[in-house]
Amino acid sequence: MNKFYTLAAGASAIGLAFSLTGPAWAGEVNVYSYRQPVLVKPLFEAFTQKTGIKINVLFAKKGLIERIKAEGVRSPADLILTTDIGRLSGAVSAGITQSVNSSAMNANIPPAYRDKDGNWFGLTTRTRIILASRDRVKQDTITYKELADPKWRGKICIRSGQNVYNTGLIAAMIAHDGEQKTRKWLEGVKANLAGKPSGNDRAQVKGVFSGKCDLALVNSYYMGKMETNDKNPEQKQWAASVKMMFPNSQGRGVHVNISGVALAANAPNKADAIKLMEFLASDKGQQIYAEAVYEYPVKPGVTWSQRVKSWGTFKADSLPLSDIVKYRKRASELVDITGFNNGPSS
Ligand code: FE
Repeated sequence: MNKFYTLAAGASAIGLAFSLTGPAWAGEVNVYSYRQPVLVKPLFEAFTQKTGIKINVLFAKKGLIERIKAEGVRSPADLILTTDIGRLSGAVSAGITQSVNSSAMNANIPPAYRDKDGNWFGLTTRTRIILASRDRVKQDTITYKELADPKWRGKICIRSGQNVYNTGLIAAMIAHDGEQKTRKWLEGVKANLAGKPSGNDRAQVKGVFSGKCDLALVNSYYMGKMETNDKNPEQKQWAASVKMMFPNSQGRGVHVNISGVALAANAPNKADAIKLMEFLASDKGQQIYAEAVYEYPVKPGVTWSQRVKSWGTFKADSLPLSDIVKYRKRASELVDITGFNNGPSS
């Protein structure tokens, strides 16, 4: 297992449960994670406590899928933990996943949020919502379609159209409305931008706070991250300046994406890895995870965290993510074709 700790630049490994000379473990699982250690730590500790199985985490912000591919049949990776259907389906396309047929996983995770062949499973859901200025926006409901309405000229802040969060949303638009309408929509939204898309989701909310724009397109959990940010308390002010709107509540529902897990193609600890997957999808695992990341449990009926509950309920788009993700490439092309990232004046 020493190899596991030989790190590429930018990656960091953390043995969450202990030293290599610790007690005899009932087994171990190696997780390659795009999710920060601090978020998954309570979850993995609960699993280890319950099963005696040790979890080693290799965390990196990028390059994990490429790394597993490069490691080939000798890869120590058992599980890939990541966010966004785009990355999960990318792992499948890269050939680094394998199918899991678990009745527990299938029973706990709704079909819309898992691969029908078992190559990926959603664990938490997040919505792509509008955060609108409390002072300047009077309406309390909105649709994605409306973002192309000239009444919002110069009022919209959004990050790069090529970011996975946006290509996911655009892919959903294509899945529902077709390519032509989606292209027109993108052109309309582009004309309404307050400037060239730049920065991350939270930067868009700062844009609303500072008066640059009135609407920010953002993933729901960022509200929680801003509201509780003691390290950068100015973000609490950004959050306080906006109200949450879940688009399409009266229509087909808000765009939902996932964070999820996949079993690595050459997982050396397959049986224990599946045990961990099943724990992540269990009531206990779901509650701990969703609470830590300000997301929604993917398993119906699991209690939401207090904070997330305070944001209210919403209607979710019912189209399965596997029907949406196939349009991601086209979504990315439309962003280029429309010159979306050049901003409103070009
Ligand atoms: Fe994010």
